[in-house]
Amino acid sequence: MSEIRLFVSTTELIAEQVMDALSDLFGEEDYAIATQEIDEAKGIWEASIYGTAEQEPEIAARFGQLVAESFASLKVNREILPEIDWIAKSLEGLKPVRAGRFLVHGSHDRDKVRINDIGILIEAGQAFGTGHHGTTAGCLGMIGDVLKSRRVRNALDLGTGSGVLAIATRLMSKIPVVATDIDPVATRVATENARINDVGSGIHLATAPGFHHAIFREHGPFDLIIANILARPLMKLAPELVHHLSDRGTVILSGILAEQRWKVIAAYNGAGLEHRRTTWMNGWVTIELVR
Ligand code: SAH
Repeated sequence: MSEIRLFVSTTELIAEQVMDALSDLFGEEDYAIATQEIDEAKGIWEASIYGTAEQEPEIAARFGQLVAESFASLKVNREILPEIDWIAKSLEGLKPVRAGRFLVHGSHDRDKVRINDIGILIEAGQAFGTGHHGTTAGCLGMIGDVLKSRRVRNALDLGTGSGVLAIATRLMSKIPVVATDIDPVATRVATENARINDVGSGIHLATAPGFHHAIFREHGPFDLIIANILARPLMKLAPELVHHLSDRGTVILSGILAEQRWKVIAAYNGAGLEHRRTTWMNGWVTIELVR
């Protein structure tokens, strides 16, 4: 079934407000809600909600009412999306996944990489991170935005799994990247994936639980820390993670269910960070924080 996007075009500030209002309205339901910058020079942003064609009448009615009541100057637009398998489940790991400029694909889909894409070759079924999970896709989208808009000199991918986020970061930015995982199998798979994506020399890998390894001190502090783990360990790791963040660093967290987000944000507020934005994907959220 085709997927649709309903959205408003506006300023960054209002797009954030619309996203907050949408998340209050639809928060517990399974819709993806996001803001994205459309035109940097003109400062145009869009706040969107995604659903299937079958869900559209219901979403459109509720979104329309929200806009009429609270954002009367805006108009809700609609777009039919090309067939994208965000929600691909089971062994759909065989289809390529697009997130921002990134296209995560298996070796049989090399030819799907288009000229402006950043292709990432990951074979399904080894370690977590083929791009199909909402958390991985959410992180990829946010990594693209952060690398485009901020000065980032080095990065850390904590809980790297297949290495997909570290590889994406390195391919897009050429900055040094550290990637770690508690699971030695993941570290081995990530090392191999870095090599086949030609970024083996730009990514330093280590097996480490949390921050228990010399690699963090040797290569940190980091301008960008990405951690797609789970809400509970992320909350526990907050003080140490912020300790390894540089003065004007950015943090991208995922692996968090929508209803857990406030607890995670509170833990990082307590460690000195400020919430920038949240994106939704199939009930999972990705959170951006800055110092
Ligand atoms: N970054 C990948 C994989 C996320 S899955 C992606 O976004 O798709 C989460 C990974 O975190 C798993 O590989 C798991 O082994 C690892 N992990 C879980 N707890 C950890 C901890 N305390 N320290 C380091 N890695 C951890």
